[in-house]
Amino acid sequence: MQSFVYTGLPARVIFGHGTLAQLAGEIERLGCRRALLLVGERLQDRVTVAAGGFAAGVFGEAVMHTPVAITERALAALGDLRADGIVAVGGGSAIGLGKALALRTDLPQIAIPTTYAGSEMTPILGQTEGGVKTTLRSPKVLPEVVLYDVELTRSLPPGLSATSGLNAIAHAVEALYAQDRNPITSLMAEDAIRALARALPRLLADPSDMEARSDALYGAWLCGVCLGAVGMALHHKLCHTLGGTFDLPHAETHAVVLPHAVAYNAAAAPDAMERIARALGSDDAARGLADLSRRLGVPQSLRDLGMPQEGIARAADLALRTPYWNPRPLDPAAIRDLIARAWAGVQV
Ligand code: NAD
Repeated sequence: MQSFVYTGLPARVIFGHGTLAQLAGEIERLGCRRALLLVGERLQDRVTVAAGGFAAGVFGEAVMHTPVAITERALAALGDLRADGIVAVGGGSAIGLGKALALRTDLPQIAIPTTYAGSEMTPILGQTEGGVKTTLRSPKVLPEVVLYDVELTRSLPPGLSATSGLNAIAHAVEALYAQDRNPITSLMAEDAIRALARALPRLLADPSDMEARSDALYGAWLCGVCLGAVGMALHHKLCHTLGGTFDLPHAETHAVVLPHAVAYNAAAAPDAMERIARALGSDDAARGLADLSRRLGVPQSLRDLGMPQEGIARAADLALRTPYWNPRPLDPAAIRDLIARAWAGVQV
């Protein structure tokens, strides 16, 4: 076995059905008396009831990409309500706002995720100001407690479950060939892909299949751990570039690009490919991912997501300007070809 470094990120994780009922006890356990609840309208009543006497108030304005202007409004609410803790309930948007508040106040946080985005397990925070997105890493933004309640994912629409789940799988896939990969993260990554690949088609067939929902949320948790623990490679670089440049939807872009990025890296990362294929129950990693995405009925091309064909060369240039480490060296012509194939939806 090769030498490695593994840094476990601290978090207390509570996983199960109906765990929201434990919220008040968890707030108290953190030593807080008045928590600000970051939660949208859909779950406001349930979360307020679960927080009981520990609810200081509600702020429900979280949106994608954590705009600093919204964070400042939430910060004012935090002060006005004299809150001493943060509870973020929702997808990556609500969790991102909780992280942005924790960065500025160092208050303890409880995250209650309702999608498969995985942000709750990472020390990463992306924020936007004046249309510019910046990303930072800080242990301060990591939630102290993550409460996974499978019941809260019951309402996640099938289409969103599929794209959010494929987005999560992308974190585990790239963790398996990361430059700083290690045996522990790789174990989690393989199990995460297995759990999500089995659960997502079942969810699509029956969105109220709670066994499948449970497996998917478990897989998403592990994918989040992978994203927080090791560096991502070409696939993530391409998705960030494409999403940012052409304003493409985040999870759908991941779903389209993933099989193509994996095919590009296949020969340079044979061990990772074997594990991905095994987890998918396929004889080929890239083809297995493409098959899964077709079964889930998600968009198959960047063209369908609204990317202009003239953007292919520009996206390749931009992605190569500030590249991430990648197992296969980045060949400009081959990267352009990869993006062109993803744009046209060529079958992997
Ligand atoms: P989101 O939080 O905006 O949720 C997407 C939509 O789904 C919203 O309309 C929301 O109201 C709805 N929704 C959420 N849960 C639901 C449920 N259970 N039932 C019904 N509807 C539900 O988006 P997201 O995809 O969860 O997260 C994307 C954001 O997270 C982006 O801003 C992304 O950059 C960020 N992110 C950050 C990290 C990180 O490590 N920092 C990791 C992954 C994603």
